[in-house]
Amino acid sequence: MKLYYDLHMHSCLSPCGDETMTPNNIVNMSALKGLDIIAVTDHNHCGNVAPVCELANAQGILCIPGMEVQTREEVHVLCYFETLEHMQAFFEIFDTYRLCLPNRPDYFGEQYLMDTTDSIIDTYAYTLITSMDLSFEALIALVKQHGGIAIPAHVNKGSNSILANLGFMPKSADIRTVEIYKGAPLPPGIFDHYVQLFNSDAHALAAISEPEYYLEVDEKTAAAVFKCLRGA
Ligand SMILES: [Zn+2]
Ligand SMILES: [Zn+2]
Repeated sequence: MKLYYDLHMHSCLSPCGDETMTPNNIVNMSALKGLDIIAVTDHNHCGNVAPVCELANAQGILCIPGMEVQTREEVHVLCYFETLEHMQAFFEIFDTYRLCLPNRPDYFGEQYLMDTTDSIIDTYAYTLITSMDLSFEALIALVKQHGGIAIPAHVNKGSNSILANLGFMPKSADIRTVEIYKGAPLPPGIFDHYVQLFNSDAHALAAISEPEYYLEVDEKTAAAVFKCLRGA
């Protein structure tokens, strides 16, 4: 079956995410747009994923737990997990690599943690738009250890990408899938043999994808989506 997806969007936990990117607004807009699979991927944190997944499930939308990590090399990597429990186990170790620099809301924006009623339950204190003290290859290994899948984000973008920051795809990382940025040309040849994802990277509601890109999967489950993302 064809399932329309948007697997890269930011909630109000990301300092650059619009304050209207609340769990309910994200899920309701995704439902309006007719998306079947979504993922909220905040920078270096997954604190709003559980409420989004709960609300999405209630509307029959499959929510894949994840986040967008910035590695030591300043490369952005989308990290997805089959369950909230897998994500949480990953996050507990991942969090120990944080540099813990205080956020400056006046400069970067607020970082809101919300519940399923869109109430602010906390404001995250450390800045989320900085690198973790974790290399690209160490991150890939840690994601794998937790049964997750790591997908280099916006690989053809001029900053925070594999091409801009590393200049090559490390062979040892065994990457099968990449995210292509629609706003820049794709260098010919380099990513032909990868499964290619096209997401919105939405920071505001209107930017969430229309039902344009789909995954061909056996069934509407995280396991089936993972199989597809692994190129299996
Ligand atoms: Zn990014
Ligand atoms: Zn992003």
